[in-house]
Amino acid sequence: MHTRINRNFLWGGLGDGFKHHLVGWNTVCRPIANGGLGIRRVAVTNRALLGKWLWRSRGSHGCGLWKGIMSGRDHFFLHTEVVPGQGDRILFWHDSWSGMTPLKSLFPVMFSCSSDKSASLASLLIRSGEGANRVWNFSFIRDFNDWEMEEVLSFLNLIHSKIPSHEGPDVMKWKLRQHGRFEVKSFYQALIGQSTTHFPWKAIWKVKAPRRVAFFVWSAAWGKILTCDNLMRRGYSLAGWCCMCRKGWETGDHLLIHCVVATDLWSAVLRSFGVCWVFPNSIKDLVYGWFNSFGKHDSAIWNLVPLCLMWTVWRERNQRTFEDLEQSTSKLVELFFGLLFDWARVGGLTPMNSLADFSTSLCFSCIRSSGSL
Ligand SMILES: [Zn+2]
Repeated sequence: MHTRINRNFLWGGLGDGFKHHLVGWNTVCRPIANGGLGIRRVAVTNRALLGKWLWRSRGSHGCGLWKGIMSGRDHFFLHTEVVPGQGDRILFWHDSWSGMTPLKSLFPVMFSCSSDKSASLASLLIRSGEGANRVWNFSFIRDFNDWEMEEVLSFLNLIHSKIPSHEGPDVMKWKLRQHGRFEVKSFYQALIGQSTTHFPWKAIWKVKAPRRVAFFVWSAAWGKILTCDNLMRRGYSLAGWCCMCRKGWETGDHLLIHCVVATDLWSAVLRSFGVCWVFPNSIKDLVYGWFNSFGKHDSAIWNLVPLCLMWTVWRERNQRTFEDLEQSTSKLVELFFGLLFDWARVGGLTPMNSLADFSTSLCFSCIRSSGSL
């Protein structure tokens, strides 16, 4: 119910006539850095909040007991670490206090021979004398055989390095944060899965373009704007030809990169910046490659270009498709630079007062040569 409201709000509330759910909900719910919009999933949020309760209840039982009660909450405990002190709240064989895996699984022979399988850490540590450090004190139900000695030795080796260094209370640490305290946000991110998707999120959300344009380019990078190919997948029957060149098949990549109208615009831009640039095939790769491609210095306006240019082409495409209005390529170049100038001024990226001065100021090589004089 709540999820439905979120969805409709997202797609209905952004204007521009978007009424289709363009990008899948799974994608939308990813963190922004993974190409999503960072919207929270209700079910996952609830699970993450449950972690808060688990964290708070940590003081009231031994770790072994929490796990018993919270069976099926393994996700939570996966991200916790027990830092032993006194050791009275830690079960020596069952809790993961010495590393990722409980000792009973690491050393099955030792476990099967231990005389107290539910011993606490504290009960296995003794002091050899007044004021001396604590040492281990084990008892096993039988002697070990020669062929078991390898396990015995590596067991002793490991646990001798694991004698708790302090004698305060045992504490639980949250491994996903350096400060060690539980935090809902970090658990949420872990639950939703840190996908390794490479998505040019900075190039879209960290530049000073209007929000709705960023949203448009985000959809385009996912290949989900309502070009003919996507409309047909939704059951519309259309001619499928690009309305700009009337030659290519209208896909997002064609319309915004490879179509002759787009190519003319891109070339005009490269000329004014005085640079050469090789175009990748997809919008995602283009946005990726373009961002800061000539170093961070002086790149703020450069980084606006892909968004500004794609938006210019998209507006023209929609005018041609829905209003039967057509502008020449030279007019589009003019519109592009006008829009870029507006955004740069609003974003405080240029001191120029006229479009002509602004256009001249773009050239990278000119900036550099005048700087070196
Ligand atoms: Zn075309």
